[in-house]
Amino acid sequence: MTDLKTRLTDRISRHGPMTLAEYMTECLLHPTLGYYTRRDPLGRAGDFITAPEISQMFGELIGLWLAQVWLDQGAPSEAILLELGPGRGTLMADTLRATRGVPGFPAAMRPHLVEASPHLRDVQRRTLSGHDPVFHDTLDTVPEVPVFAIANEFFDALPIRQFQRADGPLWHERVVGLDGGVLSIGLAPPAPLAMLAHRLDDTEPGMIVETCTPAEAIAGELGRRIADHGGAALIVDYGEEESIGDTFQAVAGHKTVDPFAEPGMADLTAHVAFGPLARAARPAKASATVPQGVFLEHLGITARAQALARHMQGPSLDQHVAAHRRLTHPEEMGHLFKVLALFPDGAAMPPGFSART
Ligand code: SAH
Repeated sequence: MTDLKTRLTDRISRHGPMTLAEYMTECLLHPTLGYYTRRDPLGRAGDFITAPEISQMFGELIGLWLAQVWLDQGAPSEAILLELGPGRGTLMADTLRATRGVPGFPAAMRPHLVEASPHLRDVQRRTLSGHDPVFHDTLDTVPEVPVFAIANEFFDALPIRQFQRADGPLWHERVVGLDGGVLSIGLAPPAPLAMLAHRLDDTEPGMIVETCTPAEAIAGELGRRIADHGGAALIVDYGEEESIGDTFQAVAGHKTVDPFAEPGMADLTAHVAFGPLARAARPAKASATVPQGVFLEHLGITARAQALARHMQGPSLDQHVAAHRRLTHPEEMGHLFKVLALFPDGAAMPPGFSART
């Protein structure tokens, strides 16, 4: 079978350069050769570790957050629990366990999962055996009821495009082409771009900005559902308020690698711009974007960590203390990772958040 590198090289030599979004989509989700479709990339033996894989505390606190927001909205009985990009299903499993005691909470119902990878669906089915999850390719098939949704490190996997400011109001798209037959990034001819008109004031020639249309479409659909039916969404990822600079990166074996060296063999991501997601979600309300460390402290992670520590000693205690630090410390995940909540206009501000100014 031809490898993905050969296929992409052939395609570019025949049809010309492709956008970074096209390249990311092929590398991550090609039906047989894509990074996520082929295998389980998560965990110590895989390429990267996510917060729910670091400690059960993450999923427990998020589960209690979801239950509290559900209670604050009058405990709607038709509601469903939804996760976008559930990885191994660990976050959902911890959420369901932590909320077992909340009478009537959707935990009693089947979780709904939006997942593109058949391989990871199998892993999620195993992790959530007994809960019989309902799978969706996209949000389109999710029932029109109040949805209480979580997405951790999902939006960073969605395909971005990059643009480099040229002179005046013009932009070069950064595209994937061939340099001596080798996949590499190049600049398309400069053109004016209506979708970047609002970035002319805060950029100068030479600067790079990123756009992620699929992320805005998904935030828009979540916002539309929340405004129509109630519900809420919690989006957790690395990123900042507005995109600035080149944040496209490839990770394999817990190390940063060249994103063009071995297509389909590395995780490709970009930082999430939270401001555009908050704007796309209107008419639903968006909270301020809060650093993950601050958010988890507000939800009581330190008290939970102390309670769990009472039953631990030796290496497992050391590991637990390190996990707490890793999730919350500003030099680890505490500051780079941010959290954004979407909720209905008129509903209470969700726990751990302040108003967007
Ligand atoms: N939330 C998990 C996994 C993060 S990895 C955790 O925190 O551990 C990203 C997840 O999103 C994987 O499950 C991947 O298969 C899924 N994914 C990536 N792009 C997707 C897309 N376009 N549609 C649906 N799922 C996608």
